[in-house]
Amino acid sequence: MGAGVLPHAHKDGSPPPEGLPDDLGRPGAGNIPDCQSCGGCCAWSETWPVLMGSRDGEGIPEDLIDMDNERMQSYGHRCAALEGRIGQQVGCSVYAVRPLVCREFKAGSDDCLMVRRELGLDRA
Ligand code: SF4
Ligand code: SF4
Repeated sequence: MGAGVLPHAHKDGSPPPEGLPDDLGRPGAGNIPDCQSCGGCCAWSETWPVLMGSRDGEGIPEDLIDMDNERMQSYGHRCAALEGRIGQQVGCSVYAVRPLVCREFKAGSDDCLMVRRELGLDRA
C-alpha cells in the first residue's frame, strides 16, 4: 500500500477524542474490529503514517519522527510508536498526539478491512 491510505481509532482503551464517532474500534460494535487487539494499520507500511502540515506531530518525541521524510519513524513496516504484539494486544505510545492520518483512519473502513485481510488478522 502506498502512503496516505491508512489508520484509526483508540488503542488504549480511552474514550474516543471529541469529534470522532464513539464506536471506533470498540469491541463488539457491529462489524467494527477491535483496534486494541489488532494494530495492523500501524504496521502496514514504512512510509506511513505521514505528517500533514506544520503542526501535525506536535508533542511526539523527536526520536519517533523521521524528520527528513515528514513521517513517523518505523522499524520495517512497524511504526515506532506502536507497542505490544500485533494481532494480540497493542497500544500507541503517542495516542494523545498521534498524527492526523491516524485519527482519521476508521476501524471497519474498507482500508482497515483490507489491511486486516492482507496481514491475516481477520482470521484471529
Ligand atoms: S487495521 Fe483497523 S482494526 Fe486494525 S488497528 Fe487499524 S483501524 Fe484498528
Ligand atoms: S502513531 Fe500511533 S496510531 Fe499512528 S501508526 Fe503509529 S502507533 Fe499507530
